[in-house]
Amino acid sequence: MYLYNSATHKKEELKTHTPNHVEMYTCGPTVYHFAHIGNLRSYIMEDVLEKYLRFAGYSVNRVMNITDVGHLTSDADEGEDKMLKGAKREHKSVMEIAQFYTDAFFADCQKLHIKRPDVVQPATGLIDDYIKIITKLLDTGYAYLAGGNVYFDTSKLDRYYIFNDHNEEDLAVGVREGVEEDTNKKNKNDFVLWFTKSKFEDQALKWDSPWGVGYPGWHIECSGISMKYNGEYLDLHCGGVDNAFPHHTNEIAQSESYLGHPWCPHWCHVAHLNTTDGKMSKSKGEFLTVSLLEQKGYDPLAYRFFCLQSHYRKSLVFTWENLDNAVLAYNKLLAKIANLKDEGGVDEAVRAEYRAKFSKEMDNDLNTAMGVTVLYDVLKAKTSGATKLAIIADLDEVLSLDLIAKAAALREKNAAAAAQSAGAFTVIAEDGTPDEGIENLIRQRADAKKAKNFAEADRIRDELKAQGIEVTDVPNGAKWKRI
Ligand SMILES: [Zn+2]
Repeated sequence: MYLYNSATHKKEELKTHTPNHVEMYTCGPTVYHFAHIGNLRSYIMEDVLEKYLRFAGYSVNRVMNITDVGHLTSDADEGEDKMLKGAKREHKSVMEIAQFYTDAFFADCQKLHIKRPDVVQPATGLIDDYIKIITKLLDTGYAYLAGGNVYFDTSKLDRYYIFNDHNEEDLAVGVREGVEEDTNKKNKNDFVLWFTKSKFEDQALKWDSPWGVGYPGWHIECSGISMKYNGEYLDLHCGGVDNAFPHHTNEIAQSESYLGHPWCPHWCHVAHLNTTDGKMSKSKGEFLTVSLLEQKGYDPLAYRFFCLQSHYRKSLVFTWENLDNAVLAYNKLLAKIANLKDEGGVDEAVRAEYRAKFSKEMDNDLNTAMGVTVLYDVLKAKTSGATKLAIIADLDEVLSLDLIAKAAALREKNAAAAAQSAGAFTVIAEDGTPDEGIENLIRQRADAKKAKNFAEADRIRDELKAQGIEVTDVPNGAKWKRI
């Protein structure tokens, strides 16, 4: 498979340390609030990537962290402890907040058919591992103590910038406005591995360490968690594009300095979801969550379909109108699949041909938009309904749009509606003045015809004629008039 590699800035074949096996790591959510659909775009695309790797014959071990301490997301000791803020807001303990939003995150994932990674590790669960890494970094001179904190010394690296050739100007982007510069740092980009000095009041979670009671920096959690569950050689690291700098850059710095060898050769970053005003998370004051989509009557899988229709490296603009268009396309696709009949047997040669067609698109930097169009090609193919359904089920192992089950439900619904409208016999008075007696006779005549009792049907027609009533048959009913 060819996948764009942010570390080399080109599309490259995914090469793994162990043949046919991928050790995969994805940065997980911060659980002090609900995930917005922009965050979830990354998880959808990473889910498709994992499922495609399995489809392509790899075994995959996918690991993800849960950032369950709000202050870990801050690169410096700055701002506010978001977890603590969430806890105060909701009158819960910090760990209750973390558990609540972790559960909410996975509930959203389930609705979007995002598979749970093989390993999910809350950051607070591996403190000893971070301490072990930091201790070695201090021993080997990659880290230093200053002002009570432990910092990583970026000047010790031959190459710090992996994803971008940052200049000093660009680096200002990584530093938020209004944040005081940390004078303990030897170099501008040095980052904290362990804090013992916190500006936060009522710091909720602290651990003992060789450097005093405190808490780890954010970046160390992903290195520690990945090394524990993926081993020393990670094949593929994914995350949102906003993670590339400084988070992933720092992960590489500390991991490779600790291991003494290259850590992860392939980096995959999912672009942003934007709203028309450029900012994600809120649109016209609405916080865009899966629950909001549901409240507005949208199927979460229609949002998944919306994401799959565009390439993961292109930023995607969210508007309700764009989502409506995706809903239309998704429903049309389901309607077409619902019309397929499971008959004629499965032609395995044709099936293999379309699986290969799909793979060709997905092997090309996970081109899900083209992968989806293969579904339309399948629908048009000159082959049996059973073959088409088999191929669609195969491709949906990766796309996870619930195509077969939803199409079957739609087919049943259509059949029920058809049966109902077939049974409904409408009688229309052409002059607009209905007459119950006459209309009952017309219905009795229709029932007699249906029962093939033509003599009775003719008798009723004659009786109506005698009353000066002319009946004309129309589809699913009859109309009548006085003559
Ligand atoms: Zn991470």
